[in-house]
Amino acid sequence: MMDFLTHCRSVVGDAFVLDMPADMAPFLTDWRGRFTGKALAVLRPASVDQVAALVRACAQWRVALVPQGGNTGLVLGSVPDASGSAVVLSLARLNTIRQVDPVNRTMTVDAGCILQQVQEAAAAAGCLFPLSLAAEGSCTIGGNLSTNAGGTAVLRYGNTRELCLGLEVVTPQGEIWSGLRGLRKDNTGYDLRDLFIGAEGTLGIITGAVLKLYPQPKASITALAALPSPAHALQLLNLMQDHCGSSLTGFELMSRYCLELVAQQFPSLPKPFAAPHPQYVLLELSSSESEQHAVGLLEQAIGAALERDVISDAVVANSVAQSAGLWQLREHIPLAQAKAGKNIKHDISLPVSSIADFIAATGPLLEAAFPGCQLVCFGHLGDGNLHYNVAPPDDISNEDFLANQDKVNRVVHDSVVGFGGSISAEHGIGALKRDELAHYKSAVELNMMRAIKAALDPLGIMNPGKIL
Ligand SMILES: Cc1cc2nc3c(=O)[nH]c(=O)nc-3n(C[C@H](O)[C@H](O)[C@H](O)COP(=O)(O)OP(=O)(O)OC[C@H]3O[C@@H](n4cnc5c(N)ncnc54)[C@H](O)[C@@H]3O)c2cc1C
Repeated sequence: MMDFLTHCRSVVGDAFVLDMPADMAPFLTDWRGRFTGKALAVLRPASVDQVAALVRACAQWRVALVPQGGNTGLVLGSVPDASGSAVVLSLARLNTIRQVDPVNRTMTVDAGCILQQVQEAAAAAGCLFPLSLAAEGSCTIGGNLSTNAGGTAVLRYGNTRELCLGLEVVTPQGEIWSGLRGLRKDNTGYDLRDLFIGAEGTLGIITGAVLKLYPQPKASITALAALPSPAHALQLLNLMQDHCGSSLTGFELMSRYCLELVAQQFPSLPKPFAAPHPQYVLLELSSSESEQHAVGLLEQAIGAALERDVISDAVVANSVAQSAGLWQLREHIPLAQAKAGKNIKHDISLPVSSIADFIAATGPLLEAAFPGCQLVCFGHLGDGNLHYNVAPPDDISNEDFLANQDKVNRVVHDSVVGFGGSISAEHGIGALKRDELAHYKSAVELNMMRAIKAALDPLGIMNPGKIL
């Protein structure tokens, strides 16, 4: 392997082949701190040609490689296994905004650009790149594409797949496929772009992308509604969609327990209501006309919801700071959970119409199997996506409870599948949910996936052990 590393050094320079444990450490542990892998080295190329040369070297020496962006993924996709035989290939130095085309409403970016950098470049050109998630200060667009990330604006703009028109990919053979087309219509055979999006680095390395841009809204307005139940939240969603159409850009459900957890762990954050309510919905409306228009729409819709007893109360933010405060409540739920201790997480999707029934049916199943367990249930209700996390009862330690992970997963995922849902909505499969995928996908579907993997990566060097 000395020859291999010597060759890698000749490609990227000594400083960008890290093989000392302390230098590699930040690249080897996942964001949640659940797993630390080992690697032969961490490679840090600065150009597409360098990525291609490194992949060719991996193919020649049969070295597995793990593509990594911001390492914020939540399913152990971006860290190597414990064997120490793979390299991590970090895309972080490919971070140039290559071109902004405000007339075509597209921008072409390197895969290692941080999401926030992409949002800011779009804003500087008077446009909006709408992908938004709590990790946007450190996740990369290549990671967003590879996990087909969702976030808080899917309801209006779709997930990352829908925000991408073209890709540039280094194949497992080290060839460069330039599919950087800014076309909204292009029916020329199999859609390779869609194959690489969501592939979690198992089919190739995304090095560049053409992204869609949108007009900047003239105004956005945020409100927090209090409700008696998830069923009321679904009624509110329909009512808001009827009243506000595509102006409704965010619709996030949070249970009472979620906000209590945030209040416990982050006492300085706002407490919008004097008394607790069973459920809350964080709403965002955006208007292409004016602030007055957005406020008018929201007031009308909230008035109708109060009149029909769909909601019990509501707080409307009347400043940018208040709006940010309400969003902080939502964004601090995962952080509050992390501070409170480990729990068993599920990122699931369901037909929107089944969500209330799923919540009503699954809680009692868990309570029967694990008395006293706590449900941290929140998520992007407008997209049918729940983060349905199960925390230990007060008298059981995190470690003891985590030993039940497979049993808890079975209860939750069986229920999800029973309601026609998916065991991974937006985080992907990685190594964490690989066995669950094998359990729930049909043999027909798994065989097609394996055939695609074998055709594109016959040596099996691309992020092995992830997804399949
Ligand atoms: C606080 C927090 C909030 C989050 N909120 C959301 C949310 O609301 N919605 C959501 O969908 N996700 C969310 N996530 C998870 C989400 O998947 C990531 O934040 C993000 O999309 C991953 O980007 P990354 O650059 O960090 O990728 P990494 O974690 O580095 O990698 C993720 C996967 O993509 C592969 N990969 C990375 N870059 C490339 C590339 N250039 N080519 C090929 N493969 C590559 C990796 O091998 C790995 O399998 C959240 C994560 C955190 C920590």
